Amino acid sequence: MDIVAGNLGRRNFLRTGLGGAALSLSSCSPLEPARRGEGGTPAAPEFAAFSQVVDLTHTYSNRFTHWAGGTARVELETVSSTANGDGWNVTRWTLDEHAGTHIDSPFHRNPNGLTADKIPPRDLVLPLAIIDIRKKAEENEDAQVTIEDLRAWEDAHGPLPDRCCVAMLSGWDARVEKPGFINFDDKGIRHFPGFHTDAAIFMLEERTVLSMAVDTASLDYGPTKNFPVHTAWLGSGRWGIENLANLADLPPAGATLVCGAPKIEGATGGHSRILALL
Ligand SMILES: [Zn+2]
Repeated sequence: MDIVAGNLGRRNFLRTGLGGAALSLSSCSPLEPARRGEGGTPAAPEFAAFSQVVDLTHTYSNRFTHWAGGTARVELETVSSTANGDGWNVTRWTLDEHAGTHIDSPFHRNPNGLTADKIPPRDLVLPLAIIDIRKKAEENEDAQVTIEDLRAWEDAHGPLPDRCCVAMLSGWDARVEKPGFINFDDKGIRHFPGFHTDAAIFMLEERTVLSMAVDTASLDYGPTKNFPVHTAWLGSGRWGIENLANLADLPPAGATLVCGAPKIEGATGGHSRILALL
């Protein structure tokens, strides 16, 4: 620990507050090829001290709108209950894996990708860049995050940070318990905002973005037929977050995202507590 602290500079080491935890992380990230040419294992990003924690997680219940239509499943079966005279309150859960605020692991779309339990912990703590498309999403239910939106963010805040999470703020998080969240038309086509494929390719080829996130139900926008954003993003070994809450409470740049991804063997993603540190 002392040697590592010396290498980092003791002040930075202490300031991170993450200390040894951040430094004991696995070096087997599937995303390291994105940094090829720089040599060696990338250093853990530096994190400033924080004074605020913002919860980006919706409460999950059977009122939550499911991507396929209808509502999401959550059953809490009573195993023991103090109301029944037992000494403990314990339930057994049955949940939809891809509903509520959840992650998509690479394996969700990519048979060779990592399952949720295998995502390296150092990949779950990331600088957060928020792309605010609320204005165009108000005018167009099928609005997408484009390369132009990413460049506009960079004009204001500098290059997208190395190994960051880029999140779309569309304002649709207010709808998660309403059927209009998935917004089927009379032909059965969904309408809601998401990432444009070109923007996803730009983030993984021209930048070193590690995760993408949306406040709607899918990384791809509603009308997609073949989910090219999922295919490109998860296919590259990266992971994503869907159904985020409260992005509007954060500045566009400067927050750190912390993802409490499920560590369930073989999970293709799943319910995650997503926090932002400011
Ligand atoms: Zn999903």
